[in-house]
Amino acid sequence: MPAAEEIDASPAIRSRLRKLGLERSSDLVLHLPLRYEDETRLTRIADAPVGVPVQVDARVLDVSITPAARRQLVARVSDANGDDSILFLRFLNFYGSQMRALAAARDQGLRLRIFGEIRSGFLGPEMVHPRYRVLADDEALPQSLTPVYPSTAGLSQSALRRLIARALKEADLADLFDDRWCQSHSLPSLATALALLHAPPPELTDSADSALQTRSHPAWRRIKFDELLAQQLSLRRAYLARRRKGAPELAPAGRLANALQAALPFALTAAQRRVADEIIADLEQPYPMQRLLQGDVGCGKTIVAALAACQAIEAGHQAAFMAPTEILAEQNHLKLRTWLAPLGIEVVCLSGGLSKGIRRAKQVQAATSAQLVVGTHALIQENIDFARLGLAIVDEQHRFGVVQRLELRRKGVNPHQLMMSATPIPRTLAMSYYADLDVSVIDELPPDRSPVRTRLFSDQRRDEVTAAVRAVAASGRQAYWVCPLIEESTKLELQAALDTHAALTVELAGLRIGLVHGRLRGDEKAAVMAAFVAGEVDVLVATTVIEVGVDVPNASLMVIEHAERFGLSQLHQLRGRVGRGAHDSVCVLLYQQPLSPTARARLKIIFENSDGFEIARQDLRLRGPGEFVGSRQSGAPLLRYADLEVDADLVELAQETAAKWLRDDPERAGHHLRRWLGNREELLKA
Ligand code: ADP
Ligand code: MG
Repeated sequence: MPAAEEIDASPAIRSRLRKLGLERSSDLVLHLPLRYEDETRLTRIADAPVGVPVQVDARVLDVSITPAARRQLVARVSDANGDDSILFLRFLNFYGSQMRALAAARDQGLRLRIFGEIRSGFLGPEMVHPRYRVLADDEALPQSLTPVYPSTAGLSQSALRRLIARALKEADLADLFDDRWCQSHSLPSLATALALLHAPPPELTDSADSALQTRSHPAWRRIKFDELLAQQLSLRRAYLARRRKGAPELAPAGRLANALQAALPFALTAAQRRVADEIIADLEQPYPMQRLLQGDVGCGKTIVAALAACQAIEAGHQAAFMAPTEILAEQNHLKLRTWLAPLGIEVVCLSGGLSKGIRRAKQVQAATSAQLVVGTHALIQENIDFARLGLAIVDEQHRFGVVQRLELRRKGVNPHQLMMSATPIPRTLAMSYYADLDVSVIDELPPDRSPVRTRLFSDQRRDEVTAAVRAVAASGRQAYWVCPLIEESTKLELQAALDTHAALTVELAGLRIGLVHGRLRGDEKAAVMAAFVAGEVDVLVATTVIEVGVDVPNASLMVIEHAERFGLSQLHQLRGRVGRGAHDSVCVLLYQQPLSPTARARLKIIFENSDGFEIARQDLRLRGPGEFVGSRQSGAPLLRYADLEVDADLVELAQETAAKWLRDDPERAGHHLRRWLGNREELLKA
């Protein structure tokens, strides 16, 4: 909208507001307090509890600068409303002007209104860096709690409060829901909710467990609902828009898929069957599939993808399968080739750095026309013109950014899209952030799996662990040894891997020890992995490059060094590398004392749980949703107010409401979206 929407403030202030995502005057209204301060009542100095913010009125008795090494400004004040009790105000940083103003207040006998926490000091009760101002004679106490807003440098709380108060008066807060709806959901109207949250009555205290602070007050719930509704509306609208595009109808005669299943050494689980059927039905439609296939580590997503590829190929189209790492691309390539080549399907692998020059050109040439192309980002980076891409599969999709996935989609004329993820996403998270996708879940592991036992060892017991590695190798099985994760430096991480490899070569003399890390060339990695797959290596020392997708059923021991440095989903992924065959498998978490409270919490969760969904749920609680959805939400703001765990009921209500509005009342949907997202919504249309 035009100028009316612009915030009436100086360009400098406007640019600071923009940093907070506040562009329009109506955005200010939805900028809600982090917490509140109670300036509605006065406390007498003599009665003030220690360590709790209080407000006192006082007169200045004297002002001085202490001659300590670091000069301090100290003002002695006495209670203006009571018994002349004394309080010291102490300022470690101050200006000369501040001292002169306090001295002037003393000379003129003015009252100060002071806000801060009292603590007992050397000379008596004191406040360090309290907020204070000179009081006008007839100034009344405010009638509501004082909001404290998220802000940014150069934007004071009082300026922000003034702007927001004015915006509240001017904004169009017409409710898009009627009274009956509000009553039946025990929610206040939008205007009532906003008025209350910006200026709560004093009886709503802001103590840690109050409804304001825990955001469980109906006013908060109303705002959270509206926010979730905006999210649902925008994602569903993007979903519907993509659905209006045409895609090749891939009719399922099923010859290839049936032949593949007949040749498998196992039968599909019921969950795999169900999910495969969902995908088959999608591929028959004249619009592109947008499906996320979720399933815990090892549940067998690859075969489901292979069946989908069969359908595309049989219908005369190409399928592309993109994986986040070279190791994984190579593994998938081997597996898919073993399954599909006997059916006469031409499978080509294209990963980075594999080869240069003419050979490369040949590979790219082959990829242009091959029936199935497996690869890394190389699939989207190279100048490949897929002749007739009908299905784009993205493995471990959370490892890719939204841009990369879009790129792959652009390689065909709206190909069908299947995204796979082994990071199980809790239901409410999937319902909200993935509302623009259809979600299929494989919720069952193949029957031949034996659960992985998890054991925790402090690294002082490393000897016992190397003994266990020896025992495993003696029985003809293999082990992974994962090196510490070093967040800040891949160079240090590499060094750690080299060191560990050197140490283990000595400690495990006689065993065949391999090493794989991110700095190896693609063909070197492939060679090490091939040796491990072939059983020519007993212990594979690795950095987290093996985190996702690697599948060697004969490996039955996973050792993770410095497990306390890993995130929960990483630990779960790594542990999922074993327990893939019928052998008893063990995952050893080696940790170093002392453990931080979060590290302890993580190790406890991974030790106690084997179900990826449960782990993800607890992880969500520890970390919040940002990390789960990663970079996929380039345009969509993360939720500011709603909490997917606490507000699960609101997510459901928002989903129903969005579906209804988009069907029956698109205008109302548009109005709500403009209110919440403004022009940010455009970003979602990609
Ligand atoms: P993920 O879902 O983690 O990608 P994979 O597709 O790599 O899992 O499958 C893990 C292993 O289980 C593979 O060796 C695969 O061949 C095997 N597998 C898949 N489905 C079944 C099944 N229904 N029964 C037995 N083994 C299966
Ligand atoms: Mg996989």
